[in-house]
Amino acid sequence: MFQTTIAREARVEGVGLHTGVFGHLRLVPAPADVGIVFRRNDLDNFPIEAQGHNVARVSYATSLMKQGVLLSTTEHLLAAIYSCGIDNIYIDIDSIEIPILDGSAEPFMQMLQRAGVRRLRRRRRYLKVVQPLEVVEGDRRVGIYPSDEFRVRCYVDFTHPLVGQQEVEMVVSPETFRHLLARARTFCFERDIEPLREMGLIRGGSLENAIVLTEDGMMNGPLRFPDEFGRHKALDLIGDLALTGLPLLARVEAHKAGHSLHTQLVSRLLADPSLWTITTEETAYAAEHHSFAALSPAPAAD
Ligand SMILES: [Zn+2]
Repeated sequence: MFQTTIAREARVEGVGLHTGVFGHLRLVPAPADVGIVFRRNDLDNFPIEAQGHNVARVSYATSLMKQGVLLSTTEHLLAAIYSCGIDNIYIDIDSIEIPILDGSAEPFMQMLQRAGVRRLRRRRRYLKVVQPLEVVEGDRRVGIYPSDEFRVRCYVDFTHPLVGQQEVEMVVSPETFRHLLARARTFCFERDIEPLREMGLIRGGSLENAIVLTEDGMMNGPLRFPDEFGRHKALDLIGDLALTGLPLLARVEAHKAGHSLHTQLVSRLLADPSLWTITTEETAYAAEHHSFAALSPAPAAD
């Protein structure tokens, strides 16, 4: 399997969920071995690599920070790029936060479809987990385990008539992500809106970009899936796992986890090289499932 980038540029614009700042986003093809790199166009194209060592404070969204330069809410865009098997890409942005758009990864999948995929002449490297690692906080936990395929399992439990216990399990591929997760939107509880606003968060939040749950229902139905909440948490998990910097050959299980636990898992994993190996050997299973049918391939080029 060879590394990929996108075939052509694609653009979108919109407001950031937490900052409320309007930004213009552009996906740009990148050469082999660059990885996924954000560039702050408003700061002389300052680069921030989508890698664990650049993770900043994490609460309600995942933020990256490098040399004091911040970029917020990377997870939905990264989930789409990572699931689509795009290894190398520049993400140009002229603001401090990735646009939230409709609160899901669907608009980013549409961008990636417009951009297409291009195969590069360098072999893809995988991060293959060989020893398990778990991060636990009370009854919340996330673990990563050896596997020949990239598989996630995500369990959520919220005391609410529309949520309750939901579990999603899948092998991650462009097709499964697109059909099972991409359309699942972010959500919040009405009772949390004022406290979050007072913390300076969700300044760009609206009924157009988040499901708002009331005491016994929702303000802006209908749901896109009965278990949209569990699916969105799995989407968030994949977006945070993108910060490992390489495609994973591993099974990841998240139990009532969130961005903080996800990113702790990534940081601890990368900090201990005895837990993984880098390989260009693709397993028979992954080769069979990792097709790019979701995106139209363009001719190979460097
Ligand atoms: Zn999310």
